[in-house]
Amino acid sequence: MRNLLLQTLSSGAGGCLRIDLRALADNYARLKLKAPHAVAGAVVKANAYGLGVIPVTQTLYAAGCREFFVALAHEAFDLRPHLPGDARLYILNGLPPGAEAICAAQAIIPVLNGVDQVARWADCAQSLGRVLPCALQADTGMSRLGLSTDELDAFLVAPPKGLDIRLLMSHLACADEPENTANGYQLKAMRRAMERFPNVPVSFANSGGIFLSPAYHHDLIRPGIALYGGVPHDGRPNPMQPVVRLDIAVTQTRTVPAGAHIGYGGTFITEREMRLATLSAGYADGLPRALSNRGAAWFEGVRLPILGRVSMDSIIIDISALKPDALPTGSFVELIGPHQSVDDLARDAGTISYEILTQLGSRYFRHYIPVSS
Ligand SMILES: *Cc1c(COP(=O)(O)O)cnc(C)c1O
Repeated sequence: MRNLLLQTLSSGAGGCLRIDLRALADNYARLKLKAPHAVAGAVVKANAYGLGVIPVTQTLYAAGCREFFVALAHEAFDLRPHLPGDARLYILNGLPPGAEAICAAQAIIPVLNGVDQVARWADCAQSLGRVLPCALQADTGMSRLGLSTDELDAFLVAPPKGLDIRLLMSHLACADEPENTANGYQLKAMRRAMERFPNVPVSFANSGGIFLSPAYHHDLIRPGIALYGGVPHDGRPNPMQPVVRLDIAVTQTRTVPAGAHIGYGGTFITEREMRLATLSAGYADGLPRALSNRGAAWFEGVRLPILGRVSMDSIIIDISALKPDALPTGSFVELIGPHQSVDDLARDAGTISYEILTQLGSRYFRHYIPVSS
């Protein structure tokens, strides 16, 4: 730990981002236990929620995962060469026009989200003289992606040739709110779609869906955030292990008198003498500007409030609660860790853990804790 922080400083980085691949593998195992009758896939879109798609997929593959989901075809093209041949790779956002041949050539499986995508993938199959795999998405109430009930019926009246439907899929809009009645309505709509495709395996649950009830598990679960340590249900105890730890270096400390203006715009004015520390990370590192005068860093169990605006490369915190010599230059404070979860930080910033993770900056010193450690 100390060694890593010294390495962070000498590398010139402003923060140390640790990604615990043991916790990731453990979270995958926990989710499998939670849905023992389903296959457990993994959503690794957006660079595995910012944590690094290559180490994350390698870890999950070693843990037994064979079904991987990205959002964009571009992400699939980048990832496919790093995945063993028996791993399946799905594109959640579907099939972009013009990308059919390359998806077919690379054994990438599009989620067909509309009749145009169905038609183009079937055309591609025909012109290649092959049967091509796909997932078919039904819109069960989110109005984002997927075929409507009428479109599913039309599909069945004249099923396109050359398509091997590997999955019938849909996505929950409110799975993070277990009391929300939308979940039950979507489940009913999903069952109506399933009746139309009785022999096709079904995938419905994201992280929140897995924890709703076994009725949502079906054949394949698709967790994202829970793998990465985010809480699946808003405001409930977190059954997952934290994967991310973020410590930020102290650049400087100072004592200011009452009446000092702090940071851009002077949005905080001290009412008494205060001790401050300037941290070497800011919104360019993905720490939301919405944390200005909100939220805190932590040091040895002491909460150190953020004062003034978050700048591009720095944040000022109040360290008056610490002993005068507690934080010399080159020491670190915790932003995400045992005292403050990624969900805590997100709440202070008025956002969700997903946004915090996917925005984690590229300037940190990144360390992956290997599974075998
Ligand atoms: C992002 C996404 C997931 C994963 O959702 P989490 O809430 O992170 O578990 C699953 N399915 C689809 C279609 C998605 O877009």
